[in-house]
Amino acid sequence: MNGPIPEPVVDIQVQVTRLSPSEEFTNSRRFIINTINKEIRVNLTTGDQTQTSESFTYYSTNFSLPSFSHHDIQSKLQNILHSEEHWLCDRLVPKISTTAINSGFGENDIELTVHVTVTYRREYVEVIPVPAETLLDVLRRVVLQGRIEADELKSLNMETESCSICLQSLGSSSKIPSRMSCSHVFHDSCLVEWLLRKNTCPLCRTVLYDVSDSALLSVIGTEE
Ligand SMILES: [Zn+2]
Ligand SMILES: [Zn+2]
Repeated sequence: MNGPIPEPVVDIQVQVTRLSPSEEFTNSRRFIINTINKEIRVNLTTGDQTQTSESFTYYSTNFSLPSFSHHDIQSKLQNILHSEEHWLCDRLVPKISTTAINSGFGENDIELTVHVTVTYRREYVEVIPVPAETLLDVLRRVVLQGRIEADELKSLNMETESCSICLQSLGSSSKIPSRMSCSHVFHDSCLVEWLLRKNTCPLCRTVLYDVSDSALLSVIGTEE
């Protein structure tokens, strides 16, 4: 159910510290590359997001370059960064070398600190197992298939008739009147209680629910 992995979002900030030439810093040129790999996991079912991050620092100091061209800076960066980070290097090089050259890299000593944040967004759908219906759920469903609305009960003049299970009138309680396949009418909850014990109409002994109902079979199969 996972969709295509979106491209990571790469944010690059280059910070330049221009160091005045001095005895101490002569020929001192430094790259400090801090990378942070962030992964945002988005649960599409609940909307929850969790974030993890890992940071790495690549460090190179007091190095020399044949020239301060984009090409030579790129070669240097490829040595600093691990070979598997070439894709990152490809993104970093234009930005770093432009900044470095614009800052007078080669003429004066500079320190470059590069902050790279790579954010991966991964979306996933949590599979929540659907609990199996209990026997009670199945019986409630079966009984409510015969549900009679208040208007219909009234038009049938059955409001004052009594439920043969609890002997209270069909129309006067909060229970729902329900007609079974044999056409006898009982309260829903009265019938469910009855059916938990036997699968026949309390009045005419007709078998009331279909035992070949697959949901019912699976429940009866698992419950004793
Ligand atoms: Zn009843
Ligand atoms: Zn009946």
